[in-house]
Amino acid sequence: MSLQYLSTRGQAPTLDFEGVLLAGLAKDGGLYLPQALPHFSAAELHAMRGMSYAELATTVIAPFVEGSIDRDTLEGLVSDAYRDFRHQATAPVIQLDHDQWLLELFHGPTLAFKDFALQLLGRLLDHVLSRRGEKVVIMGATSGDTGSAAIEGCRHCEHVDIFILYPDGRVSEVQRRQMTTVAGANIHNVAIRGNFDDCQALVKASFVAEPFLPEGRSLVAVNSINWARIMAQIVYYFYAAFAVGGPDRPVNFSVPTGNFGDIYAGYLAHRMGLPVNNLVIATNRNDVLHRMLTTGTYGRQPIEASLSPSMDISISSNFERLLFDLYDGDAAQINQMMTDFAQGDIGLSDTALSRAQKLFTSARVSDEETCDEIRMMWERTGQLLDPHTAIGTRAARLCTREGEGPMVTLATAHPAKFPAAVARAETGQEPVLPGHLADLFEREERFDTLDNDLATVQAYMADMCL
Ligand SMILES: *Cc1c(COP(=O)(O)O)cnc(C)c1O
Repeated sequence: MSLQYLSTRGQAPTLDFEGVLLAGLAKDGGLYLPQALPHFSAAELHAMRGMSYAELATTVIAPFVEGSIDRDTLEGLVSDAYRDFRHQATAPVIQLDHDQWLLELFHGPTLAFKDFALQLLGRLLDHVLSRRGEKVVIMGATSGDTGSAAIEGCRHCEHVDIFILYPDGRVSEVQRRQMTTVAGANIHNVAIRGNFDDCQALVKASFVAEPFLPEGRSLVAVNSINWARIMAQIVYYFYAAFAVGGPDRPVNFSVPTGNFGDIYAGYLAHRMGLPVNNLVIATNRNDVLHRMLTTGTYGRQPIEASLSPSMDISISSNFERLLFDLYDGDAAQINQMMTDFAQGDIGLSDTALSRAQKLFTSARVSDEETCDEIRMMWERTGQLLDPHTAIGTRAARLCTREGEGPMVTLATAHPAKFPAAVARAETGQEPVLPGHLADLFEREERFDTLDNDLATVQAYMADMCL
């Protein structure tokens, strides 16, 4: 019997892995979770220590896809997904200080950690779809990193057309070029005359609208609520822990956080058997999670632009998955809380809050502190950090507790992706794009510009599907 997935809100049917891969969001508005989480014994963890990244990924992911994808096939997809990463270790761990470490997750094609999930997701989708003899259409809105990672992940897919909407003139030039210079008949970049919220509204409306695509095509979401993305991210927590002495000593992680997808994967690694003491939620001034963890109130506030744009969010969608556990899997309760949250702030029970505080700590880091951190890290370690990572290392120091063991900060992006923020830190250094992107500014761009109008966008998509 294959592993089944259930919705956090308990109203949607359970699905197998293939089902959740194609579904994204559950029909009841909830998020899918495995019914029973795989667990590794101490002996199994010890046996995993010497594995290469691809071997480890196969071992960690196999139980999640059982019944849908056999082990040999998975091994092939995984090694293909991580082959083009530009560091032999795939996810190297660098020492910053006696007990502070950096996990570099930016050696993939688009220089951000999202490549870990989306390189694999594209291959999983194409494999499953070719077996079913189906094609799908991916539609997403991006303000930066997700769009390029999704496009790179799907560029070789034969069964996927991908449409990425971004706000015309409002993404950085590096980020735009990382999307628009990828050649492929199945890749469609759409600049919308509007802002990011407009793009997101067009995507949301398309998912609930009447079918508008050619017969037989369905829409697939690849935003961070897709279970397969979370699953792929669990792997590097094991990999990093083994590099700094785990599982024989507990490890701590500091994670630059927006939608709570990445850090939730760390939480799952812990629940799967990895000894972890402290998971640090590092936020910028958009601090919904920091407020939740310190006050017990989960409440929306307007988004404010910061130097770390990939963490500029007003709510963290994946937090619902943690809530499900904090409330012992009581789906009716989660359903009620999310209904209430649509109306206004919600409060966590004392039990739920104290459970969360046992494992998680948090810190909020301002733009000024971010620049200060980039400068200080450059001076003390010779590492040039991107602004998201700098929030992580600052929060790591603020939240380190005596005697808890090594602290690993996730370096979520390469500094050359955010040159303006790095310049503001006045290190005297200009981050250089890695070799494979050195000619990014000379490459030909391809995109279409459309009005912020649902009918226009849908007609365009129907027309462009291969
Ligand atoms: C997406 C992103 C984050 C936030 O990750 P979540 O999974 O949304 O918490 C942090 N840093 C960078 C560079 C990102 O691209």
